[in-house]
Amino acid sequence: MRKPFVAGNWKMNTDSHSSVNLAKAIVSASVEIAGESVAVAVCPPFVYLQAVTTAISTSSIAVGAQDLYYEQKGAFTGEISASMLKDIGCAYCLCGHSERRHVIGEQDELINKKVTAAISGGLLPILCVGELLEERQANKTTEVVTRQIKNGLAGLSVEKVSAVTLAYEPVWAIGTGLTATPQQAQEVHALIRGLLAEMYDSHLAEEIRILYGGSVKPGNAAELMGQRDIDGLLVGGASLNADDFVAIIQAAV
Ligand code: PEP
Repeated sequence: MRKPFVAGNWKMNTDSHSSVNLAKAIVSASVEIAGESVAVAVCPPFVYLQAVTTAISTSSIAVGAQDLYYEQKGAFTGEISASMLKDIGCAYCLCGHSERRHVIGEQDELINKKVTAAISGGLLPILCVGELLEERQANKTTEVVTRQIKNGLAGLSVEKVSAVTLAYEPVWAIGTGLTATPQQAQEVHALIRGLLAEMYDSHLAEEIRILYGGSVKPGNAAELMGQRDIDGLLVGGASLNADDFVAIIQAAV
């Protein structure tokens, strides 16, 4: 049985005060359900991670980073390693978010190194995949998502892959107000689960969580969560508002 999982990606938003206040507001409004019925994580910007992990350390809400670098330490100016994230109390790390793929230019090979390093460093990676609008229009969704998953998980054993959460986020739905219909999302989630069964085994495919992301709001969360293969939600914009994010957590139970 897959426990629902809702993660909030704050992207490059908040400041030293609002990050802590937002995290505390989410904790106090979700105290009855978070942890018990639904796993919850928030992913603040790097510079506020420590303040947020400290502020909510006694809660059951986990903290994740939005990225990491795959080397352990050394001359990599500006980068942050898995062990540094672990050291300040992070549990999760996004890998291959579409903004890193399409704004920063990250490719599958780099993302695979990041997923691998996250697992080796004791973090739980959330590997994000999803097609561009033109790829969907050219009927390339299956091809793109299959490639991103095969390359993103390359070289990982079934034991290591069990630490991974996948997030299907169609790029055309991220931050645009356009949401994939529950049927469109379910179709890709089922494809991903089938692919994992082929690549690993049916047990892993049934156990692994696959989140949907792309303009999730309190009003569409429950219907998306009602789909068989949607196990949770990765939320951007709406995770910056505690009431909206908590309403999404409630819809996921
Ligand atoms: C995201 O950042 O992963 C995301 C899905 O953003 P939004 O919810 O704003 O579309």
